[in-house]
Amino acid sequence: MKDYMIRGTAADGMIRCFAITARQSVEEYRKAHEATPVVTAAVGRVLCGAAMMGAMMKGEKDLLTIQIKGEGPIRGISVTADSQGHVKGFAYEPQLDLPLAPNGKLAVGAAVGPGRLVVIKDLGMKEPYVGQTDLQTGEIAEDLTYYFVVSEQTPSSVGLGVLVDRDYTVKQAGGFILQLMPDITDELIEKLEEKIVKIKPVTTMLEEGMSPEDILTDILGDMDLQIMDKTEVMYRCDCSEEKVSKAIASIDKKDIQEMIDDNEPIEVKCQFCNKKYIFNVEQLKEMLV
Ligand code: ZN
Repeated sequence: MKDYMIRGTAADGMIRCFAITARQSVEEYRKAHEATPVVTAAVGRVLCGAAMMGAMMKGEKDLLTIQIKGEGPIRGISVTADSQGHVKGFAYEPQLDLPLAPNGKLAVGAAVGPGRLVVIKDLGMKEPYVGQTDLQTGEIAEDLTYYFVVSEQTPSSVGLGVLVDRDYTVKQAGGFILQLMPDITDELIEKLEEKIVKIKPVTTMLEEGMSPEDILTDILGDMDLQIMDKTEVMYRCDCSEEKVSKAIASIDKKDIQEMIDDNEPIEVKCQFCNKKYIFNVEQLKEMLV
């Protein structure tokens, strides 16, 4: 199945909903970074969440970045999504290996640790919108749920899951986000809460062959679910020699001079896709002009 996400509403617009399947995109991330299972699961969950949150933005050039700044050994995660299903991301310690959690699952919460969740939305205004909340469990879905309630005042339910196979490749990845709009009735909230406690884990649903449509139908099928649109999801890095060169040129001139004095070409790797860029001394000199 190709990666894609859907967006819809239910209960006459009182519920907004999203669901995604993103095995290939998370596998792209894993391959580019040779990430371990626990890191693949952590970054993969953020990639799925960010893709759906990106789809909540309206502008074609809008960008959303989720930063997980935890004290755990993964040392942080950063994921960027646009409004059209393109995502990219990295963790500071992609080779981190941790024993499984006591429940037999990948120890994502332990890898992330306590800390902050930061959401940056660049909506083409002068200043980006920045929302920050404390990490609740480091398991990502709970952290995003808390962020939506506290920072965006939107009660939400977030489910995210990544299943890594025995050969370390990504077997399943996906998730959903349900959001309650301000005009929602108490009866409806109660009905939804009853449903939510019964929802199976996302990876179980995906393993059973359920599509994003099936997942939303399972939860909201009897609440007049309407699917509005479907967007292809892709792991894509838009780095280029020009962009990397600009990034180097923006650092302290003294540091560039030091590189020139070393008289060796420098190698810079893109954090998102690990592509290597080499700049020779002549190119470094041009950056000082
Ligand atoms: Zn790149």
